Amino acid sequence: MTAPSPRQSLRGFGVERVGKAMRLRTSPLFLDAPFPTEVCFVSHAHADHIARHGQTIATAPTLRLLEHRLKTSTTALPVPYGKSFKLGGFSLKLLPAGHVLGSAQLLATRDDGKRILYTGDFNPVPALATEAAESARCEVLIIESTFGHPRFRFPPRDDVYAQMRAFARSTISKGGTPVFLAYTLGKSQEAMRVLADEGLPLVAHPSIADICEIYASFGHSIPHRRFSGTIEEGEVLFLPTGPTSQVQSVPKARTAMLSGWALESGARYRFGTDEAFALSDHADFDGLLGYVEATGAKRVLTVHGYAKELAALLRDRGLDAQPFEPPRQMELF
Ligand SMILES: [Zn+2]
Repeated sequence: MTAPSPRQSLRGFGVERVGKAMRLRTSPLFLDAPFPTEVCFVSHAHADHIARHGQTIATAPTLRLLEHRLKTSTTALPVPYGKSFKLGGFSLKLLPAGHVLGSAQLLATRDDGKRILYTGDFNPVPALATEAAESARCEVLIIESTFGHPRFRFPPRDDVYAQMRAFARSTISKGGTPVFLAYTLGKSQEAMRVLADEGLPLVAHPSIADICEIYASFGHSIPHRRFSGTIEEGEVLFLPTGPTSQVQSVPKARTAMLSGWALESGARYRFGTDEAFALSDHADFDGLLGYVEATGAKRVLTVHGYAKELAALLRDRGLDAQPFEPPRQMELF
């Protein structure tokens, strides 16, 4: 099969490319467009998936998180999981994605019966503090492929939890402060749940504590106090990744990054942390393959990360698979 041309044809997949985004063909509905549109399905509230749209289709927790992150109020009506509704020649249904609180997949059934399933970011392994993902049968699958390479096979989640608990306990026993670095939305709350269940006192950076409040309002309350610059002996600190991290101000800190990329060699060195644990809210390679199989899809569009590699592997298995390719820079040759 030939590689997709720069003017990628997505006709057989039931979607079309508009700039960097995707829209259901013959419908006004965009999927996770990173720019304002008239009507858009927003799978979850991570920054690379959100914008202010005329009409937003999302779950109640995602709408609440969007209000917080975009500093705006919304009049959009939340869509519960599993409830079908009509829009532009499609019957639509949201399914849990298991990625972060409120994350959803979109199952779009055309009037002719063809089913298109868009996963958004998803995690098929049950995790704390989010709904377990569900799969559905479909003809076309549009699947995120962040970890779509065979070198990404995550250890059992309980093993990762055990490593995190052991790291926190041993750091405290040596008089240090365990500091976990993680995304403010999703990963932090899951890790905090693990250590709260261990009976450890938790302290969260304000950007993480704000999201914890929203989790609590949807039934996932996690005991903690808000970080105001000081740490008591025996406490565990959660800070966001990136430049807002204040780890330099914490005496006797031992740091641990929580990320699926911890599987890469040299991860700790690149993160600049003492430890790195492979806690991910995405599917790993086997999870992606298992999911494709469970849906029965014959046509698969891969999006994000190792999209080309996963699509090539699926083509080897006899599927009609392509990576979704955002527009390239102007080609000079
Ligand atoms: Zn995400």
